[in-house]
Amino acid sequence: MKKIVGLFVAMLLLLSSCGSVPLTGRKQMLIVSDQEVLSSSLTQYSDYIKSAQKSADKAKTEMVVRVGKRIAAATEEYLKANGMESEVKSFSWEFNLVKDPQVNAFCMPGGKIVVYEGLLPLVASDDELAVVVGHEVAHAVAKHSNERMSQQLMAQYGAAIVGQALSNKSAAVQQVGNTVYGLGAQYGVMLPFSRKHESEADYMGLVFMAMAGYNPEVAVNFWQKMSAGKEGSTPEFMSTHPSDATRINDIKQYLPEVEKYRKK
Ligand SMILES: [Zn+2]
Repeated sequence: MKKIVGLFVAMLLLLSSCGSVPLTGRKQMLIVSDQEVLSSSLTQYSDYIKSAQKSADKAKTEMVVRVGKRIAAATEEYLKANGMESEVKSFSWEFNLVKDPQVNAFCMPGGKIVVYEGLLPLVASDDELAVVVGHEVAHAVAKHSNERMSQQLMAQYGAAIVGQALSNKSAAVQQVGNTVYGLGAQYGVMLPFSRKHESEADYMGLVFMAMAGYNPEVAVNFWQKMSAGKEGSTPEFMSTHPSDATRINDIKQYLPEVEKYRKK
């Protein structure tokens, strides 16, 4: 009997830990609080930023900050206007350009965005950079890190992780966070997301850049350039899933819908 009650409580808690993604409305399981996600990731982010070399290119650094701030502002405005004001509080945006030849960018929870210098030769305009930044902002807004941590925690601990049933929950969260953020993994800081998360970030990123007044149509040409310049590695932004052809096709399909959000 006790067992059944316990199971019932766990199920209720699971139901209450369901969230939904802004814009797409996709239901997601989030069993970790925003605060727990942030505290498990902030140390890794600050360690990374301390060890990384900031770009010496002032103009390009300003470009990253300019595009980043504009997209973050438009995104927050959208969240506030659509009853998601509480979500805005979990963001404390930072936009960095680091001296690193890899073609990569990533976003840690809370909106800590890093663009690598190696990406810049492929970026011809603020609009094209907005494709990159919009995508990374989208990962943060859609809480993909939280979802990935939640999935991993469920796989490892089952229903015991929900609520406070597991006494060392914070240790479990930290340990899962370490693997999710790829500490010591071959990719450096951030592991690639799943195909579902990548596609969602592509769509939402286009909407956010459009809301900020950038031209989402440049995304097609930008991804074609990315595809042509691709080398061996698959860091977060150059994820192999979806494949380039699928990604470019999907983006073409999203554009008419995205256009409705475009700031004139
Ligand atoms: Zn991504």
